[in-house]
Amino acid sequence: MSTASVSAQKKGLWGGLALWKKIFIGMLAGVAVGAVMGPDAEILKPIGTLFINAIKMLIVPLVFCSLVVGVTAMQDSAKMGRMGVKAIVLYLMTTAVAITIGLGLGALLTPGDGLNMVASTTAAAASTEAPSLVSTILGLIPKNPIEALAGGKILQIIVFALGLGIALNMIGEKAEPAVQLFNSLAEAMYKLTELVMKFAPYGIFALMAWVAGKYGLDVLLPLLKVIGAVYLGCVVQVLLVYTGAVTLIAGLNPVKYLKGIVNAQMVAFSSTSSSGTLPVSIRCARENLGISKGTASFVLPLGATINMDGTALYQGVAALFVAQAFGIDLSTGDYLTIIATATLASIGTAGVPGAGLIMLSLVLTTVGLPMEGLAIIAGIDRILDMARTSVNVSGDLMVALLIGKSENEVDESIYNADEPVTELA
Ligand code: ASP
Repeated sequence: MSTASVSAQKKGLWGGLALWKKIFIGMLAGVAVGAVMGPDAEILKPIGTLFINAIKMLIVPLVFCSLVVGVTAMQDSAKMGRMGVKAIVLYLMTTAVAITIGLGLGALLTPGDGLNMVASTTAAAASTEAPSLVSTILGLIPKNPIEALAGGKILQIIVFALGLGIALNMIGEKAEPAVQLFNSLAEAMYKLTELVMKFAPYGIFALMAWVAGKYGLDVLLPLLKVIGAVYLGCVVQVLLVYTGAVTLIAGLNPVKYLKGIVNAQMVAFSSTSSSGTLPVSIRCARENLGISKGTASFVLPLGATINMDGTALYQGVAALFVAQAFGIDLSTGDYLTIIATATLASIGTAGVPGAGLIMLSLVLTTVGLPMEGLAIIAGIDRILDMARTSVNVSGDLMVALLIGKSENEVDESIYNADEPVTELA
């Protein structure tokens, strides 16, 4: 008997199941219970609210710590500085493209149309009071960072964290204690995310029961459309945007890129963690793509922390889904705000399972969309997370390849070889 099945037996049938299976079962059970109970399923809602509150609790410390860690992970030599700038520019650009594809597909396929939901919170009213783009830009710099942290003003927190990270990089040895502190706090926050996610099957069960009881089974068809839209967007992002960049910018054979990254994609798909996939990504970068050790081990960890193209794409589809489901019209300013928030939020998204869902709450709040929308999306989050994490990892590898090529750090004999080269210096 395998170790996995022995430990599964010890934990019992339910305890031995992988989290994503539990969430999926929780979701289906919730829908069934909600369908039977009807509107009475509302009594289960507090369990779901508990879960939503727990994930909201994570946003501020998670964003702050993981962003400071991401910036301080950059070394300060001239080459590192140059590569860091290139990486950040490319990461931001690919993310903005991804979210635009997400918004385009969301507008084209209209997955939320016909749901006619009514927000029970005041968030819908907030949409009319949502700040304009100009005031959002003006408000980026926090006058008081502690106030920004306490008030959960994420954009201000991101700006402050970037500034703090850069300043820490500039003070050399004196930064070490602070860097260590942020590193260990970030680790603790990843752990806490994992713990909160253990409660996800029950929270999602309750939320789905409440949603299905209140709205009926009609919500499921649009969810299939959400899945279709996100998966289609992911395919477009990898097959058009990434291979296009590899061919046109780096002048390399795109098929070799796709073949070279498939292992990392598979690990990402099944683990839904780009941080967890990092060792595999670095291996693929070196053995299959011929990227030098220095470039791979600098650009990829940075990407696993700040580059989340799949997550941004998903947020575009999800935000439009929620707006359509609740019949809320979005202005051009709202679209731009979604692009800006999702791009910045994806920097602060940790490469761990479900982190994108937490960040979705931020995007929804920023444009004044109701949080109930999150509850509906949460039920299928694992399925969406699998696709978006694969894209996140593929994007990191594409950027590493582009930077490697521009810095003369790609061994093309390895890149073009038919078999992976395992004997590396
Ligand atoms: N799971 C994703 C990742 O690790 C993040 C997300 O939830 O979108 O890349």
